[in-house]
Amino acid sequence: MSIQIFNTLSRSKEEFKPIVPGEVRMYVCGPTVYNLIHIGNARPMIVFDTVRRYFEYKGYKVNYVSNFTDVDDKIIKKANEEGVDAEVISERYIEECKKDMASLNVRPATTHPQATKEIDGMIEMIQTLIDKNFGYVADDGTVYYRTRMFPGYGKLSHKNIDDLRGGNRELKVTGEEQKEDPLDFVLWKPKKEGEPYWNCPWCKGRPGWHIECSVMSRKYLGETIDIHAGGEDLVFPHHENEIAQSEASSGKPFANYWMHNAFLNIDNRKMSKSLGNFFTVRDILDQYDGQVIRYFMQTVHYRSPLNFSRDLMESAKTSYERIVNCAENLTFLEGKAAGSLTEEEKALIAQADAYRVQFEEAMDDDFNTANALSAIFELVTFINSHADGNASRDLLLAFHKELAALTDICGLTLERKNDLAEDEVAYIEAKIAERKAAKKAKDFARADAIRAELKEKGIILEDTREGVKWKKA
Ligand code: AMP
Ligand code: ZN
Repeated sequence: MSIQIFNTLSRSKEEFKPIVPGEVRMYVCGPTVYNLIHIGNARPMIVFDTVRRYFEYKGYKVNYVSNFTDVDDKIIKKANEEGVDAEVISERYIEECKKDMASLNVRPATTHPQATKEIDGMIEMIQTLIDKNFGYVADDGTVYYRTRMFPGYGKLSHKNIDDLRGGNRELKVTGEEQKEDPLDFVLWKPKKEGEPYWNCPWCKGRPGWHIECSVMSRKYLGETIDIHAGGEDLVFPHHENEIAQSEASSGKPFANYWMHNAFLNIDNRKMSKSLGNFFTVRDILDQYDGQVIRYFMQTVHYRSPLNFSRDLMESAKTSYERIVNCAENLTFLEGKAAGSLTEEEKALIAQADAYRVQFEEAMDDDFNTANALSAIFELVTFINSHADGNASRDLLLAFHKELAALTDICGLTLERKNDLAEDEVAYIEAKIAERKAAKKAKDFARADAIRAELKEKGIILEDTREGVKWKKA
């Protein structure tokens, strides 16, 4: 089946048809780097990383671009507070963001462009817009975009340009009288004291926010791309303005599919610094493995709001554990089992394949990860009821492979993070061997003492028909 994508442009699900067969060119608006990223920022990162993984699973070659906005008022403010260059702040938080992405198993993009390194391209596109009469230079050197000149303005956010005019009226009182029309937006602005700036034909200054994505998308992916994505707050004005800039300068469609994730809220309220319900990814990583955060983010379809609460995180943790336990059980049994598939086992593999089909149907339907995780769960239940000491090694391996293929698409690993050192593992295994010997010698008191000693150290033993299993409590 083909992949259906809900396109914000048409407000409907459409079949995905790539520009170049077998390839996907996608651009995801990234964070402004002035602080550690918050868990809201992590939502688009995880959602679109999974989209990318699914395309790859389907055999597409994905060129995935995601920018870092590294010049912005908030970055400059922070730099001035710390008495350092803006670059020191942005480089610091790009590095921190990359660490958080790794903890969440979000793969690095094919390219992570940075605004400050693409100024030449921005000046060039702004000049093209001026040449085509879409841009104009005010007396102080600010360059504005003539929004009304662009016939499709409002097509993404489904806003009527005349309604916008009313909504933007307050701009008149914020000192932007030099605009021809309140709807016009900034392409380039003059520097203020203490701000980084670049030379250009109009004034020493810096770019407006929207131009960077138009330029970087064109440079790394081409004039028309397959998918442009980001959080729903970006639909207007950011993405609307990107379309206006890109399509006016190239005369071609900018992006064929627009995908937007809904917001992440905290305890059913909007997450915001002022409400005090604001968490960085780092805060949450202190309490939960990145895998649990990743699992949690996928329990809800990306276009539905997602509520962040401790209860929901605990439930995500339990669910993820169940998958990992299934995989660990398989690893354990594989170590003991032998033999190749029986006829009945071949039939079981065919049955297990039905869950993969279910998973794909969910993902083909606008990347419905909530239903895809349900398919994984049903597969886990199926495996648990058929993987035992009687199963052949080949059956266990086939189950394992099937499970790993599906969890990998969701960016979930099956290995429990084991922070024990090698000598600690060797110690536990030696104790287990000692306990086995004690039991054989009918010294049950000693065997129990060993179990208790390990429990004290946070290691739980489980006796099974196939031998002793251990895990961290
Ligand atoms: P920003 O750094 O604010 O430009 O945001 C970077 C990305 O995170 C954008 O795609 C935003 O739409 C997205 N984003 C910001 N806050 C949230 C939130 N609470 N829930 C989901 N996405 C968000
Ligand atoms: Zn952008």
